Amino acid sequence: MTSQKILSPFELRFEIEKDESYLKELKVCLQRKRNYLQVLEDKCPHSWEEPVYDPIITEGYTCQGDPPGTMGIDWRGPYHVPRKEQKRWKRTCRTCGKTEYTLLEKLSGTVPVF
Ligand SMILES: [Zn+2]
Repeated sequence: MTSQKILSPFELRFEIEKDESYLKELKVCLQRKRNYLQVLEDKCPHSWEEPVYDPIITEGYTCQGDPPGTMGIDWRGPYHVPRKEQKRWKRTCRTCGKTEYTLLEKLSGTVPVF
């Protein structure tokens, strides 16, 4: 809803029902397209490009710890959580555009396993 008009609760309820109905239609349409894409990808003989390193990076941050003035044997001051990098590679099919990622638990050294 983009209009700035002030709606009554009755109008608003009607708008919400209309939007929910439209949303249901969209979800059905979206699922149909995903299923069809899956069929096309399954039929593709796949011609993979060279794998590209594409790690999952979680930036480091400083955790504030317990508020000053609080006490206790387990009190924790501010501490730094380091940046984390999980190794991952991706490859894309030249023919259909499908992208696959390495399975993190299947990495062997620096060789990507798809
Ligand atoms: Zn393909």
